[in-house]
Amino acid sequence: MSDLQDLDALLASLPKPSLAEQLAELEAARRAAAEAPPPEPTIIPPFVSPYPLHHPRAGLLRFPCALNCGWSHEEWPAAEPFELPPIPVTADGAECSRILSEHATAREDERKRRIEEAIRRHFAEAHAGQEPPARTDWRTP
Ligand SMILES: [Zn+2]
Repeated sequence: MSDLQDLDALLASLPKPSLAEQLAELEAARRAAAEAPPPEPTIIPPFVSPYPLHHPRAGLLRFPCALNCGWSHEEWPAAEPFELPPIPVTADGAECSRILSEHATAREDERKRRIEEAIRRHFAEAHAGQEPPARTDWRTP
């Protein structure tokens, strides 16, 4: 049995939420999104995913220069080494979730810092005197 078949069997065995539970979850997500602070402006341009799902380099993200000069910065999160943070054996589910969320946020912040640094370096070398244009959300394409 393949891992995907194992996963399908596992997912099929999980209890299914009712329609009311699904709607309540959707409404809670909408409420949280509406109450969240607006995203900070960033110089990171919209990314491109140049490779399809089953390509050996699938998941690679390309951040082209906002001035369309042909330069781009690439990130490949799936190829980065992944280490779980240390989790105390006494941690309950909420504590585990908090530790994993902080770890994921730190990795995302590090990636954002690396991309912004590459863009600033590129602008200093290729577009001296110009500021990279800012936009509001760097995660969306
Ligand atoms: Zn450029």
